[in-house]
Amino acid sequence: MQLSFPLDDDPLLPKVRARLRAGAGPCRDEPRRDPVSQLVRSMLGSKTRDEVSIRAFEQLHGRYPSWDALRQAAPQRIERAIWMVNHAARKAEQLPQALRMIVARSGGLALDFLADLEEEAAMRWLGDLPGVGPKIAASVLNFSTLRKRELVVDTHLLRVGERLGLLPAKPDYEAGHNGLMRLVPEGWTADELYELHRLIKSLGQTVCTVRAPACDRCPLQDLCPRRGC
Ligand code: SF4
Repeated sequence: MQLSFPLDDDPLLPKVRARLRAGAGPCRDEPRRDPVSQLVRSMLGSKTRDEVSIRAFEQLHGRYPSWDALRQAAPQRIERAIWMVNHAARKAEQLPQALRMIVARSGGLALDFLADLEEEAAMRWLGDLPGVGPKIAASVLNFSTLRKRELVVDTHLLRVGERLGLLPAKPDYEAGHNGLMRLVPEGWTADELYELHRLIKSLGQTVCTVRAPACDRCPLQDLCPRRGC
């Protein structure tokens, strides 16, 4: 099927948000982690289901209550605490590397200074850390106590965005993040982007699933060029 892609001022994204919000109601905020804790949590969560990565995060934090201790830990020991996540060996290497790099570049193990940077500069700063792509960088900025105006684009947002024609075919995380951020109206706040992430992710987990999208009960079916495909 030939899809046409929306212009930047296409009103489809606000309609999607309004429709999902009408069905789900306003989304409740959750307790926020400090940005370094959110970085660790998000790195563990890459390509791993939430319930598994939350368990790994709690186990890791139990063994290393201070992230400074994690910074100095041997990867083999870290891997034993996070064995349940996908790519555990690679993450066990990258976690202390990223923490060491934060200290080397900023002089301390904290990321609160990112609050003073423009969003794009903060995304670039985080993106230079090992193992940190646009999804993890945006989650540090938007999900943590920083509450910055970035949309976290995960696999659910990529899939739903592609099916709705908001994104081109097979977008990677960078194209997905940049493509959806271009469609976000200027007035939307950080908390509204947090809510948008939660609304679309929930649709992707329950209705617009990978193998069997339930278009007949999708609240977006009249907006979607891929309904029923
Ligand atoms: S109509 Fe179908 S393909 Fe389109 S967003 Fe809804 S579930 Fe996904």
